[in-house]
Amino acid sequence: MARRTKIIATIGPASDNEETLRDLIRAGMDVARLGLAHNTIDEAAERMARIRRIAALEGRYVGILVDLPGPKVRAASFGEEAVTIIEDSQVSLRAGDRASTASDIEVDYEGLLTDVEIGDRLSMGDGRVILEVQAVDGDRVSARVAHGGVLTGSPGLHIPSDRLSMRAPTDEDLVAVEHFVQLGADMIAVSFVRSAEDMARVPVEPHPAGPIVVAKIETRAAIQDLPAIIEASGAVMVARGDLGSECSIEELPILQKEIIRQCIALGRPAITATQMLETMVANPEPTRAEASDVANAVWDGSSAVMLSGETAIGVDPVNVVATMSRIAERADEAFDHRGWTSELSDLRMTDTEDPDSSITDAMTQATARAVDELGIGTILCVSGSGFTVRSMARFRPAAHIVGLSADERTVRQLTLSWGTEPIHLPEQGHLDDRVSAALEVARNRGAVQAGELVGVLAGTDAKSRSTNALRIERVPEA
Ligand code: PGA
Ligand code: MN
Repeated sequence: MARRTKIIATIGPASDNEETLRDLIRAGMDVARLGLAHNTIDEAAERMARIRRIAALEGRYVGILVDLPGPKVRAASFGEEAVTIIEDSQVSLRAGDRASTASDIEVDYEGLLTDVEIGDRLSMGDGRVILEVQAVDGDRVSARVAHGGVLTGSPGLHIPSDRLSMRAPTDEDLVAVEHFVQLGADMIAVSFVRSAEDMARVPVEPHPAGPIVVAKIETRAAIQDLPAIIEASGAVMVARGDLGSECSIEELPILQKEIIRQCIALGRPAITATQMLETMVANPEPTRAEASDVANAVWDGSSAVMLSGETAIGVDPVNVVATMSRIAERADEAFDHRGWTSELSDLRMTDTEDPDSSITDAMTQATARAVDELGIGTILCVSGSGFTVRSMARFRPAAHIVGLSADERTVRQLTLSWGTEPIHLPEQGHLDDRVSAALEVARNRGAVQAGELVGVLAGTDAKSRSTNALRIERVPEA
């Protein structure tokens, strides 16, 4: 695999049939994202089973990311046909679930009337339409259309998060978490997080026993509490759709870089999301600006780049993944591995209270240097929870990373880790056995070649939490 940056594709009506799922996997989908905003739990569970089945047939690991809707307010459907909301016209909003028109919009949230105030700007469809609240009377909110645009289906209605009285995760989110933890989802994303306490309210066992919990950064409050939220999460998403409605648009690129930087320092995978190849919802080629956006997200240090509507409802989801894969791979080729490794030496932060993680931190740093000096092309990381692999990936080594674990879910979670090829390794007793098994399994999978010099990172026994051994080994003949 030449591409190092991972690709997350959202599965929706355009992509949930078996053939398309298979072709998405072949085109490079590493993680499938299942949104619960438009689906019931049962529908999403069925999709999850289908993806698992097809990934197994393809002999590939595909991570499953369940995305909780959180306190997302949606408009009742505008119908299949696009509806134009005319600039400067008046619209009224009320609670309801029947249908929306260009002048009467129904939303699935009773609290709308008490939360919003005159002068608030409400964004619909990730900024396609902007409404300005003019009056709140009786059972309706009257607003002027500050920016007109075209809406379809059930677009989201963004209420500024410091107005919203609903908290994340919502009661519905908590019910969904319980279901998907039981079904063995690999990652769960929490929408509209405002604080580290919100993350703590997600009822999962701490990683590695539970799924990776992804904090979606899309509120102003989350920006204020960023270091604590990142620390409380297993991975982070720069959710640019809602974040772009919450902050001024010129702040967004700066926030993207800052969030990713803090994630890297703490060894958390960072996902850059939303509108990356948006025009490909309808077109066979992206805009030039979109191509640059994907490449720049790679150079910012994203572990993964994400597709939303492009693969969920677009005209050609497989073409979108193939296009993103080519752009990301080319950007990866131009990546300054050495510059990054040396910068990270100053940037990295480790939990000095925890000796195990300090040891892993130092060992991965030493490995990054050793493989660079020796010109080694592959690092095998044997890991229980995936922590060692993520620590190693922080350094963005030019060497290929192979992540091996005896835990099937850990292997699937490694689909999110930058530059990592996930491989399952049956449980082994001692260091020597583990190293030889890792070399053999990686060679049989074609990840390393017989005779090649590789670095192997592992713990000296299965119980040690830290990675304390680096071996430089030649891959034996079959
Ligand atoms: P969403 O999250 O697609 O669930 O809204 C991503 C974003 O807001 O960018
Ligand atoms: Mn969002």
